[in-house]
Amino acid sequence: LTLRGASTEAPGGDPSLLRELRSLVGEGSVLDGDAPGYAADESEGSGLRGSPDAVVLPQSTAEVARVVGWCYAHDVPLVPRGGGSGFAGGAVPLEGGVVLSLERMKRVLQLDPGLWRMRVEAGIQTAAVRRIARENGLSFPPDPGAAEQSHIGGNIATNAGGPHAFKYGVTGAWVTGLQAVVAPGEVIDVGGPIRKDVAGYDLKSLLIGSEGTLGVITAAWLRLIPAPEVMLPVVATYRGTTEGCDAIRRVLEAGIVPATLEYLDAGSLAASVRSLPGGAAPDAAFLVISEADGERAEAARLQAELSDVLRPGAVDVRALQARSDVEELWRWRDGVALAVSSTRGGKLSEDIVVPLDRLAEAIDATVEIGRRHRLEACSWGHAGDGNLHSTFLVDASDAAELERAAQAAEDLFDLAARLGGSISGEHGLGWLKRGQLERQWAPAALRLHEQVKEIFDPKGLLNPGKKLARLVA
Ligand SMILES: Cc1cc2nc3c(=O)[nH]c(=O)nc-3n(C[C@H](O)[C@H](O)[C@H](O)COP(=O)(O)OP(=O)(O)OC[C@H]3O[C@@H](n4cnc5c(N)ncnc54)[C@H](O)[C@@H]3O)c2cc1C
Repeated sequence: LTLRGASTEAPGGDPSLLRELRSLVGEGSVLDGDAPGYAADESEGSGLRGSPDAVVLPQSTAEVARVVGWCYAHDVPLVPRGGGSGFAGGAVPLEGGVVLSLERMKRVLQLDPGLWRMRVEAGIQTAAVRRIARENGLSFPPDPGAAEQSHIGGNIATNAGGPHAFKYGVTGAWVTGLQAVVAPGEVIDVGGPIRKDVAGYDLKSLLIGSEGTLGVITAAWLRLIPAPEVMLPVVATYRGTTEGCDAIRRVLEAGIVPATLEYLDAGSLAASVRSLPGGAAPDAAFLVISEADGERAEAARLQAELSDVLRPGAVDVRALQARSDVEELWRWRDGVALAVSSTRGGKLSEDIVVPLDRLAEAIDATVEIGRRHRLEACSWGHAGDGNLHSTFLVDASDAAELERAAQAAEDLFDLAARLGGSISGEHGLGWLKRGQLERQWAPAALRLHEQVKEIFDPKGLLNPGKKLARLVA
């Protein structure tokens, strides 16, 4: 077999590879390597594109197992793919091989509203899971921003977060069981429709966040909760980072548990304010969104408390009531990344985490790092989790600027490590941050990280090069 990604083979890939894959899963489930839509993910703005030799669209776990088994027997790299909304290049087939897209595996396998749980195939869209839960009076709280594009399998593989992770936790907190195909092509089930399980080492949690490097997730048991009756946000603006971060601290000190605690700094607010529902005062240079949720009377009481706590030092505090206003606000919030990116046509956006008491420092340092590298910079994100989307604005066609942005990102990772934080709070390491874990983990921990990979994937064929703990062994 000749792999195009690893060589200069002509587009379309090796015919024998396509033939053999088709014999495993059927003619209609294997696309040529140059089929549009499988060479990149949302990191494409950084110039990252791969070159698959074939794209397989399996329809069942058994078919996934056949493909993994075949790839393992023939030393062919395999890249699992969800909705391709990742920001770290995790689904990009940089070494060629087979892209295994779960897009046809999107069935609800079991729905038990009375027991607050459902089982789904990995390729179901995040938005569909949330919709089905809602239609049954329930909630699946994880709410990563690209819900119409991302799959639940991709969310699990990256352990995705989102605005409501502050109160409800990240995706992994809502997964009670996983089915996965592991090397050399075997199906495992860990956990299930059970709420507690400490019987073995926590393989489920190892697979969660493993970014396709340990196995292919094919199905998941998800935990649901009764949907809150109302969600009542408070939007507050401030003249600067200090006033805004002081307000965020006061929310916690007051012992209030909001569902979300989000922020936008001056730059990201300037980029997105034109479409902010209700607008903002000219001197607003920092925005905080917090939200009370739950039963109507209790949520209203919490919302009033939040307004009081957020008011000192604020330019403006607005408590939203109407459901349409709330939906409009969150639609706007989902569009912030795009608004920022359209300022200069491109951006390099990271997702560092710092301890909450270092948030203001990290927000200011992001802008300062940008200045040092002659790049406009800003940040927004999940303030309550200390999770910043520190961003450098670029013209994606300017190679020198992209290079400066990459260097700025290095400084950002140093900053996160120095402040006792993490280089990634939700997007994972993928390709773009491979090797960076070395900044925050001791050698013994890095060794264990590498050994876990070797045990699951002795041939190194599952999403090769991604999520590496360090670049030099
Ligand atoms: C506008 C926008 C907003 C976003 N907002 C958020 C946010 O708020 N929070 C957040 O955490 N992320 C956010 N993201 C990033 C992205 O949506 C998440 O990382 C998401 O979880 C990726 O899911 P996906 O299905 O698109 O996976 P992909 O991008 O296809 O893949 C991501 C990684 O998971 C692996 N993978 C995918 N499916 C499987 C599987 N079935 N088995 C094993 N491995 C698999 C891939 O190999 C890859 O390494 C946002 C992205 C965009 C474009």
